[in-house]
Amino acid sequence: MSMKTLKVRTNQRAEMLDITDLVKEYLEESGTQDGQMLVYVTHTTCGVTINENADPDVCTDLLMALDKLVPWEQGFRHGEGNSAAHLKASLMGSSCTVPVQDGKLQLGIWQGIYLCEFDGPRNRNVLLDVR
Ligand code: ZN
Repeated sequence: MSMKTLKVRTNQRAEMLDITDLVKEYLEESGTQDGQMLVYVTHTTCGVTINENADPDVCTDLLMALDKLVPWEQGFRHGEGNSAAHLKASLMGSSCTVPVQDGKLQLGIWQGIYLCEFDGPRNRNVLLDVR
């Protein structure tokens, strides 16, 4: 067993959802002691990033700054009307990899893994692959 798809429901148009505990749970289930954990989203309007999980204002600030950088309305051509979400998703990236040592994710003390929603609310798939 090395892959699993997490089903995650987001609640707002833009949101940073801390999925660290879900990833840790899966790592324990897998029994993997040493290797790498890939966290990957199979979508084009949400991303994954690692950032501070101590002060929630960091996530609020990050979303605010992305809104300033990429406003929703600015004459985009994409007919679906959600180009800003596509751009932000690419800025965050669709995956991150965390080293695993002694059965633990090697995250820094302030680091958490976030699903970054930019066109919610939606049901999202997060693929976890540890090996
Ligand atoms: Zn679109």
